[in-house]
Amino acid sequence: MEENMRENLFFDPKNGYDRIDTDERLAVEDYCRGYMDFLNNARTEREAVRYAIAAAKENGFREFKPGQKLQPGDRVWVNNRGKALMLAVIGTESLDHGAVIAGAHVDAPRLDLKQIPLYEQDELCYLRTHYYGGIKKYQWVTVPLELHGVVALKNGEVVDVCIGRDPGDPRFVITDLLPHLAADQMKKTMAEGITGEGLNLLIGSVPYADEGKDRVKLAILSLLNDSYGITEEDFLSAELTAVPAYDVSEIGLDRSLIGGYGHDDRVCAWAELRALFDVQVPRRTCLCILADKEETGSDGVSGMQSAAFDCFMEDLCDTQGAVLRRCLENSFCLSADVTAAFDPLYPEVSEKRSESKLNYGMAICKFTGARGKSSTSDASAEIVAYLRSLFDREKVVWQLAEMGKVDQGGGGTIAKYMANRNIDTIDAGVPVLCMHAPFEIVSKLDCYMTYKGILAAYRD
Ligand code: MN
Ligand code: MN
Repeated sequence: MEENMRENLFFDPKNGYDRIDTDERLAVEDYCRGYMDFLNNARTEREAVRYAIAAAKENGFREFKPGQKLQPGDRVWVNNRGKALMLAVIGTESLDHGAVIAGAHVDAPRLDLKQIPLYEQDELCYLRTHYYGGIKKYQWVTVPLELHGVVALKNGEVVDVCIGRDPGDPRFVITDLLPHLAADQMKKTMAEGITGEGLNLLIGSVPYADEGKDRVKLAILSLLNDSYGITEEDFLSAELTAVPAYDVSEIGLDRSLIGGYGHDDRVCAWAELRALFDVQVPRRTCLCILADKEETGSDGVSGMQSAAFDCFMEDLCDTQGAVLRRCLENSFCLSADVTAAFDPLYPEVSEKRSESKLNYGMAICKFTGARGKSSTSDASAEIVAYLRSLFDREKVVWQLAEMGKVDQGGGGTIAKYMANRNIDTIDAGVPVLCMHAPFEIVSKLDCYMTYKGILAAYRD
């Protein structure tokens, strides 16, 4: 009798592995194979967009042009300057009834090259960087790095650069002091031990065979000129970025986890994409947003605050004579972004009861923000109740999550920029260990459940 009371009254979440069967375990593995390929090949927002478009084409999507006629079941995308992507599957209901939107971001913390990056010091050649997003700088030294991006030339040509991804490619590194000589450095705080101006990429050491100055730099420029036809001045109009060169891999003897660079937030981006691909003819129009610039505040032309989104929504509304502000007011948005997983090695920053845990499924964050919920988008209780009901009905393994103890820190996502548009929005995504590190960890089960949760919302 007393046992029943506990069962009925206590909230007692169970590990996801105690809640799925063998078939679903196979589905988890199958899903994660696809995700790992995406993550391995999408190291920048541009590469993520390119990969997503290729996958979308295979799944029956075509590029949307304003004024195009659209029917229920039509599948379209809009490419925002190669850095952000918006995809839609048209529903049977009018857009006046709203859309179901899932929004993730495809940018990730990294080291951008400065616009005048190349220099020689003591017969070694370096590239200066300016870090992008929130990083712990000491994590980025003595890590193999790759160079990705574009160089836009004055003649209008855009040269693609990708060095380090192919096996056999050279890679780059930022050096650190040996412990033998690091007595002074080791007295500094972890925030001060490695500085932003100190994050310079070692890229060469062999001098050009002449008598002039900067001979190593000259030799490197000559190599770059041979391969890409660029000169030093062309760096002015380049977007080159150093990202970790680690391959995505399974982690743990049981292979239950995935380690890789950029899970935040490509893990949710892939979940949305795959879910959208699995939608046929939905009731409400389904949208998948892959945004850029989330890690720097969602500003700018490719960030979630950009009018590019409103423009696409208005174009979609125009195809059926729907009213944009009605559509937004009746829409629902899953802001699909990662959250901090409870880390047993660092329990002091967490309030264990409220933190998301690995293998407990898709993590719903009712609110984000810092301190007194500053800058939060706080989803209403009604929205949380809606998801509870939907996810339980569709057998999505999910959990509720907060980021750390009160006053320990905090964070934001694109949620508030969607909610500010008068769209009911809630954060939900995959819990991550060592978020923003060059190598982040997620659980396969949580990846799959996030896909399943988004698909449930699309199909509702
Ligand atoms: Mn994120
Ligand atoms: Mn982030």
